[in-house]
Amino acid sequence: MKILFCSSEMVPFAKTGGLADVSGALPQALEKKGCLVKVALPKYKGIKVPGKIARLGEAIDVFLIENEQYFNRSGLYGEAGGDYDDNLLRFSFFCQQVLDLLKQQNFCPDIIHCNDWQSALIPVYLKTKLNQDDFFKQTKTIFTIHNLAYQGLFAKEQFPQTNLDWSLFNMQALEFYNQVNLLKGGLLFADFITTVSPTYAQEIQLPKFGCGLDGVLRQRKENLSGIINGLDYTAWNPATDDKIFQKYGPGNLELKAVNKKGLQRELNLTEDENIPLFGIVTRLAEQKGIELIISALEKMAKQKLQFVLLGTGDNKYHEALELIKQKKYKNFSINLRFDATLAQKIYAGCDIFLMPSNYEPCGLGQLISLKYGTIPVVRKTGGLADTVEDYQSKTGQGNGFVFEEYSGKKMFQAIERSMAVYKKRNQWLKLMRRAMQYDFSWAASAEKYIKLYRQALNER
Ligand code: ADP
Repeated sequence: MKILFCSSEMVPFAKTGGLADVSGALPQALEKKGCLVKVALPKYKGIKVPGKIARLGEAIDVFLIENEQYFNRSGLYGEAGGDYDDNLLRFSFFCQQVLDLLKQQNFCPDIIHCNDWQSALIPVYLKTKLNQDDFFKQTKTIFTIHNLAYQGLFAKEQFPQTNLDWSLFNMQALEFYNQVNLLKGGLLFADFITTVSPTYAQEIQLPKFGCGLDGVLRQRKENLSGIINGLDYTAWNPATDDKIFQKYGPGNLELKAVNKKGLQRELNLTEDENIPLFGIVTRLAEQKGIELIISALEKMAKQKLQFVLLGTGDNKYHEALELIKQKKYKNFSINLRFDATLAQKIYAGCDIFLMPSNYEPCGLGQLISLKYGTIPVVRKTGGLADTVEDYQSKTGQGNGFVFEEYSGKKMFQAIERSMAVYKKRNQWLKLMRRAMQYDFSWAASAEKYIKLYRQALNER
């Protein structure tokens, strides 16, 4: 099967978020399963590769779409907190160039797998301008939503920049409350739609999570499914992690304590092996449930626990957390910055990881913390609901602590439950071992994508 994977960011070339991790890992996992995969990406300023084709892994061609004026800039989508005002032009160009290039290279994919609004016009072009084109006659499209909140919205006046006919500016195509909505185009014109967890695939069909597109998603529900993201265990593994104080695995879990001690020392927390150490590594955004954390902090400060936060994001949260920081609680360490090394030390050194998200398409934090034996406390939503199962002390089932209602009170109750189990050392050890054994590698998810590709090609 020949696949073109199309994305606006990809590790190790360009990254602003989780899409880059998926785009760097999934094509390689597909290739390992026998697919012939090529990928397409804009050639941003930071990509210092000579020529138009780079390599992902050993053998995957990366078509770099060049345009001095559009892509030779410091940002991917914008700078200094604002979006570039020609993003519609930039990504319409990207999508058209990708299709042109396939012809030039005479690479006719069975599947073009598009991701988020930046490549959403590809299915639209294929089903409209190119629907009589013999080259793409057999090609099917898959469109993956990584976060429905980002839709690629533009003013109506800019619509001609897509090079599409005005007849497509209507409610059953790209029009959305009198604006251009690229994501909506992907949802309506792709053969199949996926998103990054089964629960999120259900949630986005509800008005509460649908970001205005729940109706469109319900209309396409027969062709909509959720496939959980994998985690790259070559990058995230406590047994091989060079950034942490001490490598460890399920077989020598006692060594995890070295990481706890190292982290406590580095963050000026009392070095105490027996106090439960809670961690959170996050964007400071509404999505992540930061309100719940902030509302619970005063109460947590009085408990026999330690708490470390690492995060950056919205100003309002920086301000609120600065105020808490000024209170100098001895059992808190609040770090308002991006720091990949400290993040790894937190995953390795903490006992419990907090992820009380308001919504969560998939989430990586809980997958990483499970692998590091750091037990997640999560809200039951999206990918968190699909990967963390509430611990039952009677049966020993489960791998974390789950609460449902979006409230500080319910989150705190889950925290208390985790502390109660933490005190029972043997139970906790078993829980850690169990958590570390869950397999969320890319291989299983790649298999599911291949099954869907076959379905799209009618080869079930
Ligand atoms: P999202 O992509 O929505 O932000 P995920 O849970 O899918 O959330 O992925 C977040 C990733 O970014 C995780 O690997 C997390 O460790 C990392 N991360 C988030 N904030 C920080 C930070 N301030 N410093 C270091 N790493 C961070």
